[in-house]
Amino acid sequence: MKVLVINCGSSSLKYQVLDMEGEQLLAKGLVERIGMDGSVITHTKVGADEKWKNVTPMPTHKEAIAQVLGAIVDPEHGVLKSMDELDAVGHRVVHAGEHYSHSVVIDDAVLKVLDECSALAPLHNPPNILGIRACQELMPNTPMVAVFDTAFHQTMPAESYIYALPYDYYTKYGVRRYGFHGTSHKYVAHRAAEMLGLPESQLKLITCHLGNGASITAIKNGKVVDTSMGFTPLEGLVMGTRCGDIDPSIMTYVAEKEGLSNEEVNDVMNKQSGVLGISGISSDFRDLEAAAEDGNERAQLAMKVFAHKVRAFIGSYIAEMNGVDAIIFTAGVGENDMGMRDIICDNLDNLGIHLDLIRNRTRGKEAVISADDSKVKILLIPTNEELMIARDTVWKVNELKNSQH
Ligand code: AMP
Repeated sequence: MKVLVINCGSSSLKYQVLDMEGEQLLAKGLVERIGMDGSVITHTKVGADEKWKNVTPMPTHKEAIAQVLGAIVDPEHGVLKSMDELDAVGHRVVHAGEHYSHSVVIDDAVLKVLDECSALAPLHNPPNILGIRACQELMPNTPMVAVFDTAFHQTMPAESYIYALPYDYYTKYGVRRYGFHGTSHKYVAHRAAEMLGLPESQLKLITCHLGNGASITAIKNGKVVDTSMGFTPLEGLVMGTRCGDIDPSIMTYVAEKEGLSNEEVNDVMNKQSGVLGISGISSDFRDLEAAAEDGNERAQLAMKVFAHKVRAFIGSYIAEMNGVDAIIFTAGVGENDMGMRDIICDNLDNLGIHLDLIRNRTRGKEAVISADDSKVKILLIPTNEELMIARDTVWKVNELKNSQH
């Protein structure tokens, strides 16, 4: 089965084409500046020497998707002979509220639910829906599946997702912890079980997705029991530019001092905080490390605060699950930043966590990086959300076909 995976933002769109016989990536690409001057598609055919670029007007997502479809069947740069070869499309969708705990085949009823969930994810769901509608117009007979960032976390028990606020806010407005990065946490948890040679139903895992956005999840017997992101992706760990957990009173205090509007408060917490806010230098850990090595104290502090928070979550999730079999590092920082993994795992021997400093000198590829005597395995697993989306797409489309027979 050949699957197109689409991850649609407001002005950009990422895509991959995968042949699911053997789970081979065939092509991938990026469309940028949708609805602006200078719209551009950059397409890479696996095995080709060069990327192919085309600057052409794309006033809406429909023209952007049309360009993607054109690229994948292009005689020179394409990977399919015709659109008939494409069996299904998998769409990344951020928010499904409490409606779906797994992926679903998209129909009108699903689109209505996603529209309703736009209130919970106003920046993400509307462009996701635009992408779906554009694909439906251009490929009316191709089955489409929505794969949600929130779905994997729906198994959390109420004590993990209810906030200590008036209960009415939950019943009236859906204010609760939803959690995000679910597709990534699910993918690395599956791979961890495979690497450990044990079924997920027998494992206690802590998955650390440490990228520009960062979240950490406790997974017991294959089910999420807690996760650090909350009602929005702002809660939890310190991130590139997001503050994560703070005393909720801080920003009303600062807003009064500085005369900030609600919008400005949100902007400070989402775009001016995190390691960027502390260091005043950058949200990128490569820049922070360079500055820290040059003796910049705020860069050093930013990295320590980041690690401190990850360690605090690891400790609390070990308590919540009464133990842990493996800790998994993934995403940009988790996969590449050996120094950060070292600080996070330092001095946790008492919890049975012992990093092997030589094995930890690994970047961007699967590895067991714990010492032989570590009771808890430490794993490095590059995330692959697109593959997870394509797998779920195959699963749901096959289910649909079987139900029609
Ligand atoms: P992501 O959001 O998963 O794409 O992660 C992006 C972040 O990963 C960047 O902002 C960097 O902070 C971090 N990153 C990527 N490569 C490296 C590296 N080689 N060393 C340290 N951090 C890295």
